[in-house]
Amino acid sequence: MSEHFWDDPVIILYLLLVIHISDNLWAIYLLLREIHVVYKVQMVPDLIRPYLPQELFEKMRLHKLHKGWFTIVNTMVMVIIMGVLELYFGLYSWLWDVATQCAIAQWMKHEVIVSLIFVFILSIYFWIKSLPGAIYEKLCIPSLHNRQKSSVAAIIVKVIVDIIVGILVTTMMVVALVYLTLWLGVFTALGLYLQSLIITFGLMIIIPFLIDPFLGKRVTLENTNLRTELDNLTKKVEFPTHQVVIIKVHDPSIGSNAFFYGFGCLKRIIIFDGLLLNRGKRDVSDLSPEEIGKGLRDEQVVAVVCHELGHWSHGHFCKTVVTFQVYLIVMLILFTITFSHGPIYEAVGFAPGVQPIIVGFFIIFGFVLTPYLTMANFVMLSLGRCYEYQADKFAFRLGYARELRTALLKLYADNLVFPVTDRCYSSWHDSHPTMIDRLERLDSLLNYGS
Ligand SMILES: [Zn+2]
Repeated sequence: MSEHFWDDPVIILYLLLVIHISDNLWAIYLLLREIHVVYKVQMVPDLIRPYLPQELFEKMRLHKLHKGWFTIVNTMVMVIIMGVLELYFGLYSWLWDVATQCAIAQWMKHEVIVSLIFVFILSIYFWIKSLPGAIYEKLCIPSLHNRQKSSVAAIIVKVIVDIIVGILVTTMMVVALVYLTLWLGVFTALGLYLQSLIITFGLMIIIPFLIDPFLGKRVTLENTNLRTELDNLTKKVEFPTHQVVIIKVHDPSIGSNAFFYGFGCLKRIIIFDGLLLNRGKRDVSDLSPEEIGKGLRDEQVVAVVCHELGHWSHGHFCKTVVTFQVYLIVMLILFTITFSHGPIYEAVGFAPGVQPIIVGFFIIFGFVLTPYLTMANFVMLSLGRCYEYQADKFAFRLGYARELRTALLKLYADNLVFPVTDRCYSSWHDSHPTMIDRLERLDSLLNYGS
């Protein structure tokens, strides 16, 4: 045995197996807690009863239980058992050998081409592995949301476009990662960081120009009363009124939502038309029966916008960007330490000295960094939930707590969000506090002012 466990491939392999198993068993434990809560609650909670009929609640409850048990079985078989076998029997090194043998011509022996063949074979393997679960989910656990029915031709075109886009994006990423690593060597992490900085700030600049064509179409508000109320609110807090934008979304099943993003002159509050009562239309004749009556009254919409203004006022967007940079930097430091460490590659079946770049990325991000990624995700979700409470408090200070309270109840019911959840499960999964927690905080603010 080597002097340090860190240099012993056998110990590293067992460590990777322990990380993989314990991370997924933790996810299953959380899900079992959630399922236990759902089993216990058989009646609609009093709080949301006026907005959610018992019949629909029961449908949501059974759907959640079915999906929960399916996820547990799928995780046990496809993720834990298959993942352990893949690591233990050296699937990645075997696939790399297959990819090397497929590179028959001399020009194909370059690491970039072998990496592309490797990723192509691995993607097919993952696709086949996910197929039974995907088919079961599609056939046996249909979505609760009424999606727009598409023609067979439209579905085929969509699948073909998705495959082409998927291949193009994957090829670009693999080529960029392999070349970047070949060129920069030990400075790869620095290159990745600079690349992510450029992408992050590039996206911040272009997102305002992408929302209109891709997500939906910008529309003017027909409702003059709501327009006046929104103008009054934005003037009160000195937020530019024209940066509150209503979007008529292309896909009506996308749900009712509003969000704030951006900074400086690029900041926006986006309101989906689904947030407005009857999609903001006076004439409801072209709405589907399910859409009629959905959405919020004017005062409730203003309360939701006030909550979004809270995110702006507290600088949550910039704080999130900074937090993400810290997360990224720590992740890349850990990546740099582990990426060039030969015994990790030997642990998954490679001969000493063989360290394919693309396999390194898979193993490091897929297994080695799992504890960090899981904990960092937990911390970021916790921060996100703190920001939600702060934004709710901002709405309370401006006198919108009561309207926000009823708006939340209506939105949770409209978006078919199951109203009861396990606190521990939620703290590891949700970027927003549970509905019950938010309402309790709002009630506490209304009753005691804190
Ligand atoms: Zn929020």
